[in-house]
Amino acid sequence: MILNDRIEGVLFDIDDTLVDTRGAFAHALSVLAGEYLTELPTGRHGEVLAMWRADTHGHYRAYTRGEKSAREQRMARANELHSEFGGVHLDDRGFDEWDDLFQSSFKEGWKAFDESRSVIDELRARGYRVGALSNAGLALQTEKLAACGLGDVDILVTLDTFGVGKPDPRVFVEASRLLGVSLEASAYVGDELDIDARGALGAGLGQGIWVDRPGARRGGTHEESTAAAVAEGIAVVPSLAELLG
Ligand SMILES: [Mg+2]
Repeated sequence: MILNDRIEGVLFDIDDTLVDTRGAFAHALSVLAGEYLTELPTGRHGEVLAMWRADTHGHYRAYTRGEKSAREQRMARANELHSEFGGVHLDDRGFDEWDDLFQSSFKEGWKAFDESRSVIDELRARGYRVGALSNAGLALQTEKLAACGLGDVDILVTLDTFGVGKPDPRVFVEASRLLGVSLEASAYVGDELDIDARGALGAGLGQGIWVDRPGARRGGTHEESTAAAVAEGIAVVPSLAELLG
C-alpha cells in the first residue's frame, strides 16, 4: 500500500496517468507524418513522437504558465517537427489543416491504461474520494475521460480554473478543497516528477506520487530522477495498480 494512513482523497493527473496519451500522440503524429513528412521513413516516426513529448523548447510548459495559448504552443511545436523532419513551414491556414488532422487522429487514439478503471473503483470501494487535476483545458479533458470510460471521475481543476497549471500551488489547493478533504489528507498522482508529485508536496498535500511507467519517460528538459524523488519523500510507482499494493 503506497497511500499513507492519513490520506482520504486521491487526485489524479489525466494525461499519461489515467489515459495513455503517449499512445494517442503516437497514433496522431504517425498519421501527420504520413501526410506531411512524406520523405521520412515510417521507422522514424518514433523520433517525431519523442521530439513532441520532450517539448525541448518548453512551449507546452509556457502554455501551462499562461504565457502562450493552446494554439500558439501547438503551432510552434508543429513547425519544429516540420523543420526537424523535412516538412514545409506552416502558416496560420496551413496549421489549421494540420491541427484538424491532429485533433481527429489524437481522439481516435484515446484509451485509458488497463488498470485505471479498476484502481478508481477500488479506491472508491475503500472509501477514498477521487478527482482529477489537469494542466489541459476542461472541454478537452471532459471529452477525453468520457471517451476512455472514465467520465464519472470529477475533473476538479484544469488550466481554465486560474489560467495557470501545475506546479502553481493554487491549483493543488483548489483541487483538494473541491475534493472535500484537507490538504494533508490529499494525495496527488501524476507522471511528471517536477510538476506533479513535487508540485503537490510544495503545495502542502499529504503525499506526492510519481507514476514512472517503464519506457515512458519524456527526456529533454523533464526531470526524471528516481533517486531525487525518493530523497524528497516522493513515492515512485511503475503503474497505478501499485497504489493499493
Ligand atoms: Mg501527465
